[in-house]
Amino acid sequence: MPLPDTLLQTLQSIFGDAAHTGPAERLAYAYDNSRLNAQPDAVVFPTEHAQVEALVRACREHRVPLTARGRGSNTTGATVPVEGGVVASFERMNRILRIDPANRLTVVEPGVINADLQRALAPHGLFWPPDPSSSPWCTIGGNLACNAAGPRAVKYGTPRENTLGLRAVAGTSEGFRCGTYTSKGATGYDLTRLLIGSEGTLALVTEATLKLTPRPSAIRTLRATYRDVGAAAQAVARIMGQPVTPCALEFIDETALKLAHAHAGNEVPLAGALLMIEVDGEPGTLEAAVAAVSAAARGDGLETLHTAATVEEAQRLWAARKALSPAQRTIAPDKINEDVVVPVSRLPELVQGIQRLAARHDVLVVSFGHAGNGNLHVNLLPRDAAERERAHACLADVFALVIALDGTLSGEHGIGRIKREFMPLALQPTTLRLMGEVKRAFDPDGILNPGKLLPA
Ligand SMILES: Cc1cc2nc3c(=O)[nH]c(=O)nc-3n(C[C@H](O)[C@H](O)[C@H](O)COP(=O)(O)OP(=O)(O)OC[C@H]3O[C@@H](n4cnc5c(N)ncnc54)[C@H](O)[C@@H]3O)c2cc1C
Repeated sequence: MPLPDTLLQTLQSIFGDAAHTGPAERLAYAYDNSRLNAQPDAVVFPTEHAQVEALVRACREHRVPLTARGRGSNTTGATVPVEGGVVASFERMNRILRIDPANRLTVVEPGVINADLQRALAPHGLFWPPDPSSSPWCTIGGNLACNAAGPRAVKYGTPRENTLGLRAVAGTSEGFRCGTYTSKGATGYDLTRLLIGSEGTLALVTEATLKLTPRPSAIRTLRATYRDVGAAAQAVARIMGQPVTPCALEFIDETALKLAHAHAGNEVPLAGALLMIEVDGEPGTLEAAVAAVSAAARGDGLETLHTAATVEEAQRLWAARKALSPAQRTIAPDKINEDVVVPVSRLPELVQGIQRLAARHDVLVVSFGHAGNGNLHVNLLPRDAAERERAHACLADVFALVIALDGTLSGEHGIGRIKREFMPLALQPTTLRLMGEVKRAFDPDGILNPGKLLPA
């Protein structure tokens, strides 16, 4: 059904030239990094909070779906407008409104790119910890809506731990603020944390007050290789079981190393598994920190342990991790990219269980990721239709294994379109019902990002 003329006229009056219904814009905003695809009927580019309120009001009046979008880099189909309607792209609402070192906060619009914010904060000796590897392209709004993170989360947390407050527009079209400008707050329900990770299904975020952290002045990088994944996973549990928290603790399995080695050459070592470990702090504290994590990294199955002496050497040690994404795409453009998470102490059981499932389903699976959080990117790499079918069967077993290990479906990518059918595996019926009621309270007509996050 085309959009009603009255709605189109309202969009023109709110957005003028920033409302589009032409085929080029509809095509460009039909997809995201999931490679799913569905065209919206219109694309608008808000720049002010008041426009967002008017937009939601108009869509609600006509019961038309409305999907918020940052830069479309999510992996789960979260921005694909599966029921058509309007896409609101926040890319032009991208001002840093305030940097406030005394209160260790910054106030930003949702379309600010993560890396641009980090650049603006650097002269103040501060940073915002969430560091997805997509930081040069992804927006703060997208980071908040997915609770996106990266290697630093093991020490500094995710957007949920690094956001003080939000301004937003609910699906009712009411604008509201939640949270604080203070580092403490005990005033009612924590709607800030509720909106973070809600994937644009409850409200559209128009402003965020982010908590800032002093940037450590020094960092040391270590690389350890192990006989097998089990030995590396045991080392992760030992490292996280001692008092020095690394600021990165990344895991790469043998299959991933072989792929990266084939792609990037001898900079990438061949081993049963590899850990990248980083510690940060003031220079005087780092020797003791390196000694503590090195002691924990040593143990049965350790083959090599190397500490980088220079920045250049540290960059070379990271070569394996950096080569992984392009290496996988070359052999399996249709890779299935999951980001399951288990308690750190269950990591050995997870990595060994995944190896068993890969063998049983005869599918190439590579595992790597943020082991310090128990968060593994489990990538299934089917190369043809038969392998794709086996990969989907394998995926269901991977999720069942994760749940049996007290883990959950996603550590940072979110649920989106792709994983919502698995939500009943992870959550009890009562929990899901309560989530449905929360959704109805914010968005009674179900116009915000329909077909996402909650199961049908
Ligand atoms: C190469 C690559 C590397 C990646 N690495 C990581 C990684 O290390 N860690 C990680 O966690 N993720 C990673 N991602 C996934 C992705 O970059 C993150 O999920 C990111 O946060 C998405 O930001 P975006 O601006 O592209 O948002 P989009 O993809 O446009 O949107 C994501 C979600 O946010 C919602 N949304 C956007 N703006 C708003 C708003 N203003 N109000 C309400 N909802 C909104 C959308 O509706 C959607 O549900 C990676 C992706 C790529 C392509």
